[in-house]
Amino acid sequence: MHYISTRGETAPMAFQDAVMTGLAPDGGLLLPEEIPEVDEAELDAWRDLEYPQLAAAVMRPFVDLSDEDLEDLVERSYESFREPEVAPVVPVGPLYMLELFHGPTLAFKDVALQFLGNLFALILETRRQQLNIIAATSGDTGSAAIHGVRGKPNIRIFVMHPHGRTSPMQALQMTSVLDENVHNLAVHGTFDDCQSMLKTVFSDGVFKRRYALGAVNSINWARILAQVVYYFYAAFRVMEQESADRVRFCVPTGNFGDIFAGYIAARMGLPIDRLVLASNENDILYRFFDQGLYARGDVSPTLSPSMDIQVASNFERYLYYRLGEDGGAVARLMQTFADTGAIALPADIAPETLFAAGRGDTADTLKAIRSCYEDHGYLLDPHSAVGYSVARRFLHDDVPMICLATAHPAKFGDAVRQATGRDLAHHPVLDALADLPTRCEELPADAAALRAFIEAHAEACA
Ligand SMILES: *Cc1c(COP(=O)(O)O)cnc(C)c1O
Repeated sequence: MHYISTRGETAPMAFQDAVMTGLAPDGGLLLPEEIPEVDEAELDAWRDLEYPQLAAAVMRPFVDLSDEDLEDLVERSYESFREPEVAPVVPVGPLYMLELFHGPTLAFKDVALQFLGNLFALILETRRQQLNIIAATSGDTGSAAIHGVRGKPNIRIFVMHPHGRTSPMQALQMTSVLDENVHNLAVHGTFDDCQSMLKTVFSDGVFKRRYALGAVNSINWARILAQVVYYFYAAFRVMEQESADRVRFCVPTGNFGDIFAGYIAARMGLPIDRLVLASNENDILYRFFDQGLYARGDVSPTLSPSMDIQVASNFERYLYYRLGEDGGAVARLMQTFADTGAIALPADIAPETLFAAGRGDTADTLKAIRSCYEDHGYLLDPHSAVGYSVARRFLHDDVPMICLATAHPAKFGDAVRQATGRDLAHHPVLDALADLPTRCEELPADAAALRAFIEAHAEACA
């Protein structure tokens, strides 16, 4: 399987190169040359597989790894989950919650980043290369990335967060990781300062090559691929339970990575009748699916910060399919978006039948947390609550609804308190953080300081 760019100007490359490349050289995102179709017989054979075996089966046609390497990789990646099922599906009132928060940092990003960390390590070992990952985080992605690569040979990770501006617990989830290859940098500035320092350092091609700098952002194809698996896993569980022949999913959405994985699963042949996209107040994607216009707005902070995104980096992948796999058309539309901040699809494009969308604002979020707890005794985190709130508007008598639960409620205890008036959300892992030793360096908001830190702590590779 080769990987091509959404903008059509990059030579096809192998899976492992796609993983190491991230963004395509033409500025587009990488996608498999074709999406493998799974027939009935194969679906039947997959139904009863346990999570790691299913993961290997789903990923196999996409990767250039030996069966043995792939099986070993997924096995190790999901061993770190506290729940043996990895992604259990729980009935809650009229729908099902797919719990994706049993990984090391209690958020769904672990599903992809545990896999990506092991995959990086395998590729680097084969190629005898080093990788220095630089990341900027406002909270969750940073800790999932750190836990994905901690202690791994040939990899160092440098994660910047804005000093004093993440929740204390989010900071502790990062700074309590003491492995030698992990460097936490508390920047005296905002998240935007961290991002602009990152961009400045990455824009120096010589420095980037010399220190083999890399990123772990959500455009990496391997992250999407790892997320395709749980759509199959959950659909099999629920179809069996309900004797149903298809399901629908509702996905709390930010960068469009998670729901795009569901789109790939549907295109592979998993019987998904509807993918319901759930936005908070930052609703650019809701407006696109509802009104057909993709137009940038200002970001407003909400109770579900991982969905506070106005430009969804993975959306371009969907556009590629929507525009009939025409890379030139994608490139032109993305240029228009960069110039004007707004695009609509050409009038002759076939209407979308798989996606639907809804919006859940702060009041909806709080109400969902409260009523779900009161009615069903089930505690939602605010991201999952946006999904739950929207999912309830798309219930169907004959098609079961599966709603993705993307974080453990204890990660967002304040929102739970605000919704219920009670201190209900705890998790032993988080409660234990307060007593752990930490390691973190403070840095001024200055790209030169970041550069100097990397020079002092990373070996030059070229
Ligand atoms: C990242 C994240 C999301 C959004 O996922 P995307 O792939 O960016 O759409 C939703 N909920 C939580 C808790 C997250 O961390």
